Amino acid sequence: MLNLISIIFGALVGSFLNVCIIRLPKEESIIIPGSHCPQCNHPIKFYDNIPLISYLLLGGKCRYCKRSISAQYPLVEGTTAISSLLLFLKWGLSLSYFFYFSFVAALIIITVIDLYHQIIPDVISIPGIGVGLLGALIIPHITFFNSLLGILLGGGSLFVVATFYQWLFKREGMGGGDVKLLAMIGAFLGWDAVILTILLSSLIGSITGIIIMVLKGKDFKYAIPFGPFLSLGAVIALFYKNEIISWYLQFRG
Ligand SMILES: [Zn+2]
Repeated sequence: MLNLISIIFGALVGSFLNVCIIRLPKEESIIIPGSHCPQCNHPIKFYDNIPLISYLLLGGKCRYCKRSISAQYPLVEGTTAISSLLLFLKWGLSLSYFFYFSFVAALIIITVIDLYHQIIPDVISIPGIGVGLLGALIIPHITFFNSLLGILLGGGSLFVVATFYQWLFKREGMGGGDVKLLAMIGAFLGWDAVILTILLSSLIGSITGIIIMVLKGKDFKYAIPFGPFLSLGAVIALFYKNEIISWYLQFRG
């Protein structure tokens, strides 16, 4: 029963994340006006605004203009709902659940906005650094000191890489947004997870980059945003940090 509630809660939060994803880059208010169809601007009634279910009932089309509703809506709602369930199964009804759920929610917003616009909004990442650091004071799984180290290592390491890249290739490779995102990841997960996140996201990002190059014949300068890979790496680190580290350590005897 509680599992089901965590899924419903996640889907409702996901619905709000969709509003943030659409409105934050336009610098619109995320509270008013209420939901409206982005194509015909018709206000959406509450019964057409039920996460996931309304999309299915309406067949993915607006009730008024009949144009397609972006698959982003059910994808974000579904992803947020599953994240909520997985976090609930790991941490139960606790402060840790809310702490990490707010972290994953921020990563979901950042991932989708970065995919659309190639920017990582400061209004998410910078307050996220503060929330992570303050949360570390009350969350049993991370110390304040570890969170602080995570911010310094996350912000510092990418800054060094980005500066070096720019000096070497005379153009910007990684944006300042990525630096602030990794600082936020460090604030929530600590310094060891930052290293793991960099390794995982570089690995997944390189593989994806090679696949895109082979499929589309584009060269590596065709920038794919790095934020989604950092976010994915961070989520893997969040769930499997201890398992990955002990798996790695067994090779050292
Ligand atoms: Zn419409």
